[in-house]
Amino acid sequence: MSIDNIDFLNLLENEETLDPENWDELKTLGHEMVDVMLDFLKNQRKYPAWRKPGDDVKNFLSESLPQESEARNKVFHDFVNNILPYSKGNVHPRYWAWVEGGGTPFGMLADMLASGMNPNLGIGDHAAMYVELQVLNWIKEFLGFSSEASGLLVSGGSVANFTALTVARNSIDAEIRTKGLFEARSRLTIYGSTETHSCVQKSIETLGLGSDSFIKIPVDKDYKIDLKELQQAISKDKKRGRLPFCIVGNAGTVNTGAIDPLNELAVLAKREKLWFHVDGAFGAFAAVVNELKKEIQGLHEADSLALDLHKWMCMPYETGCVLIKNKELHRKAFQLDPPYLTSHERGLPAGPESFGNYGLQLSRGFRALKVWMSLKEHGSEKYKRIIKQNIAQAKYLEYLIRQSDKLELMAPVSLNIVCFRFSNPELTTKELNALNREILMTLHERGIAIPTYTFLGNKYVLRVANVNHRSRKEDFEMLVKAVAEIGNILLEEGFIKRPMVVD
Ligand SMILES: *Cc1c(COP(=O)(O)O)cnc(C)c1O
Repeated sequence: MSIDNIDFLNLLENEETLDPENWDELKTLGHEMVDVMLDFLKNQRKYPAWRKPGDDVKNFLSESLPQESEARNKVFHDFVNNILPYSKGNVHPRYWAWVEGGGTPFGMLADMLASGMNPNLGIGDHAAMYVELQVLNWIKEFLGFSSEASGLLVSGGSVANFTALTVARNSIDAEIRTKGLFEARSRLTIYGSTETHSCVQKSIETLGLGSDSFIKIPVDKDYKIDLKELQQAISKDKKRGRLPFCIVGNAGTVNTGAIDPLNELAVLAKREKLWFHVDGAFGAFAAVVNELKKEIQGLHEADSLALDLHKWMCMPYETGCVLIKNKELHRKAFQLDPPYLTSHERGLPAGPESFGNYGLQLSRGFRALKVWMSLKEHGSEKYKRIIKQNIAQAKYLEYLIRQSDKLELMAPVSLNIVCFRFSNPELTTKELNALNREILMTLHERGIAIPTYTFLGNKYVLRVANVNHRSRKEDFEMLVKAVAEIGNILLEEGFIKRPMVVD
C-alpha cells in the first residue's frame, strides 16, 4: 500500500475543514465563553482558594478518545462543569504557592487574539515578529538591562536558564558545537549557591556537563552565597585542572527570596574571566523598585539573565524571557542556516532574523502579544506599584507573624517571600514538621488559603511567595489567623501522640 492507493478524485468530491459550518452559532458560544471567564475571574474572592477534583471529575477525564464529533456547546459545558471549578487556585487572592502568577483578564483576551491570529514566530516578515522584538526592548528598558542585549521569549524560567547556560557553555569553547564535550580540554565547572533553583542543575545535566560539575556553594544566614567559599572553590578547581566557566547568581532565590551579592559576583566573575549568569525568574523585577536598586545593581553586569513574565508580571502562562548581553555569542550558540530557512530580500522570508537562531525552538507561538498588550494596558509604573505592593504585603505578613505568639518567622524577609511556621516550645523539630505539614494540607482542603512549603535545613516551613496582584491586607490576616487556629485545634485534638501541655 502507498498513497497511490488513495482514490483522490473521489475523496475530493467532499472536502472538509475544521472551521465551523455555522459561524454565527460559534460567535454566540464565543461570547458566552468570554462572559463565563470574565465572571470566573471577577468572582474569585467568593470561591474557595482550592477545590479537590473528585472521583467524578477524574473518571470524566479518563474517558477514551472521542471518535465522533460532539457539539461545541456540550464540549464547553463539560469544561465549565468538570475543569473550570477545579482550577489550581493561582487566580485566587489567597494563593501564594510556589512562585506562581495569577494572570489578568486582559492577558487572557490577548492570548485569545494571539491564538486566533496563530502566527508562528520562527521566521518571516509579519507584525508578530516586530511585536516580540519590541517587547524584548521594553523588558530591557524596564529592568535597565543593556539595550544591546539580544533576547527571546521562552516558555519560562527553566528554558530561559537553559538557553543562557547553553550560550555560556559554548562561549568558552568554540568547538563544543562540532566536537561535543568528549573533546573538551578539561572539565567545565559552574558555580552557584545551594539555594539555586533546581532547574539550573537540570540545565547543567541536559547540557551534558553532569551535575558533579555544578559546585554548590554554601550560603550565609541570609541565604546568600558565601563569597569566600566561592572564591576558594574556583581556585581549588583551577588548581586541579578543571575549567571554571560560569557563576550563577540568584536575584531572588526560590526558597526565601534572597538576593545574592550580585555586584561582588560580577566583579569576581570578571576577575576570574567567567560568564556571569543571573537567575532572576521573579526577583529580577526588584530592579524596578527604587529601594532595592542598590542591592540588585549587579544584575546589570550579568552576561545573561533569565526571568519570568508569568510570575511577578502576572502575564498568563507560559511567558519567560532570556536576555544575553553579547548578541553574537547568543547567535553562535544556536544559529543554523538550512536551505529551507534562508532569508530573502523580499516577500515573507524577508523578515527580521529568525528567532530560531537564538534558541532551541523554531516554531514559536505569539506569546509576545499578551506581553505587549499587558504592558500597554497598565504601563510600567503600575507594574512597579504592584511589585512594591507585594513586597509591602510580605513585610506586613512578617509583622503579623512577629505579633503572634503561635507563629515563628523562619527566614529573613528580603523580598516577597515569607517562611514561617506554627510553633510550640514543647515540640521537637520532627513533631513541628509533621504538625505544620498537617496545617498546610488542612488550609488547602478547607479552601482558606494556598501557601506552600519548603525545608530550611531540617525544618519544614510554610512559605508564602507573593506575586499576587489580587491579594489584600486582610488576606494575610486571614492566613495568620487560620494557621494559628488550625495548629491549636490539631494540638488540642491530640495530633501529637504523647503527653504534652497545650495552652
Ligand atoms: C520559578 C523559578 C524558576 C523556574 O521557572 P519556570 O518558569 O517555572 O520554568 C527558576 N528560578 C527561580 C528562582 C524561580 O523562582
